[in-house]
Amino acid sequence: MSTIFGPIHSRRFGVSLGIDLSSSTKQCNFDCLYCELTPMKAIKTQHTVTSTETILYDLKEALQNHPNIDVITLTANGEPTMYPYLNELITEIDTIKGNIQTLILSNSASLSDENIFNALLRLDQVKLSLDAATPEIFRKIDRPAEEIEITNIIHAIQRFSHTFKGKLFIEILFVRGLNDTPKEVMALNTALQNIQCERIDIGTIDRPPAYPVQGLQFKELYELSHYFDPSLPIHIVSRTHATATPSHYSANEILTTLDKRPLTDDDINALFDEESKKQFLILLNEGKITKIERSNIIFYLPLENSARKRQKNTQKS
Ligand code: SF4
Repeated sequence: MSTIFGPIHSRRFGVSLGIDLSSSTKQCNFDCLYCELTPMKAIKTQHTVTSTETILYDLKEALQNHPNIDVITLTANGEPTMYPYLNELITEIDTIKGNIQTLILSNSASLSDENIFNALLRLDQVKLSLDAATPEIFRKIDRPAEEIEITNIIHAIQRFSHTFKGKLFIEILFVRGLNDTPKEVMALNTALQNIQCERIDIGTIDRPPAYPVQGLQFKELYELSHYFDPSLPIHIVSRTHATATPSHYSANEILTTLDKRPLTDDDINALFDEESKKQFLILLNEGKITKIERSNIIFYLPLENSARKRQKNTQKS
C-alpha cells in the first residue's frame, strides 16, 4: 500500500499530497472520543514503522504524477509526530520539494519533546490541535497516553508560536457536553491569548466518531465563538450542521456582529436572510465593511476596526 494519498483539494491549504506516517495501522498517543478511526488504546511509541526510503520512493513517484501540488502534508493513521525518523524525513523532503510547502497535522501531544519541537520548526506550516485547556476535560475528550499533560502541551504551543517562522494554525474540535461549556471555552480563550497564530479553526464532529458522542449545530458553534476574545482569528470550519435558520440583521446589527466576530462568506450565507445579505453588500460597496485574507480565507469586518484587528492578528505576517 502506498504511503501517499491525494491530491486532495483543500480550501484551507490548497492542493495537498498527503504522507501517511502510519499507513498499515492506527498508532496514536491519544484515543479521542471523536476520532474517525477505530477506537484504540493510546500508545507512546510506534511499533510498526515504515522506512523513510519507502516513503520517499512513494513521494517522488506521486510528485511526478501530480506536478501541481501546493503542499505536502505529513499526517498519519494516528499521530504523525510519533514517527521516529521525522527529522530525517523532513531533511529528505526538503531536498526534493522545490517550491512546495510542507505541513504537519498534529495533536500537539509531543510538542514538549525538544526533538519534535525543533523538527516542526523546520516546516512551512503547522496545524496543532487544542481541544481542551483544563486537565479534566482534556483527559475526557482526548484520552491521552500516560504522562501527557495539557499544561505542558499549552506551554509548548505557546513557546512554539513565538519561535516558529512559518504559518501556525490551531484547531479546536467541539464535542457536545464536554468542551462546549462556557468554563472550558474561557479556559481555552486564556490559553490562546498567548499563542501567535495565523488562524484558529473551530469545528465539530463531521464523520462517524469512534465513541458515541455528538457534534454541535453551526449556530451553537457560532454562539461559542463569541466567548473568545474578538482579536483572536477564529474561523468556523464545520458546515455539516449548517442547515441554516437565517436571521434578519439591520445595517447596524451587521456592523456590530462583524465587529465581535469577523465572518466569512459561508458564515454570512448560514446566518443572514436574503434582505440582510443585500444590506451586507450595500455596506461593503459603501466601504463600511472591508476584507482581510488569512491563508486563503476571506473575512469581512467593519472598516473602522480593521486596522486594530489587523495589527493584533498579523504580528508575524
Ligand atoms: S489524535 Fe487524531 S488520530 Fe489520534 S485519536 Fe485523536 S483524532 Fe484519532
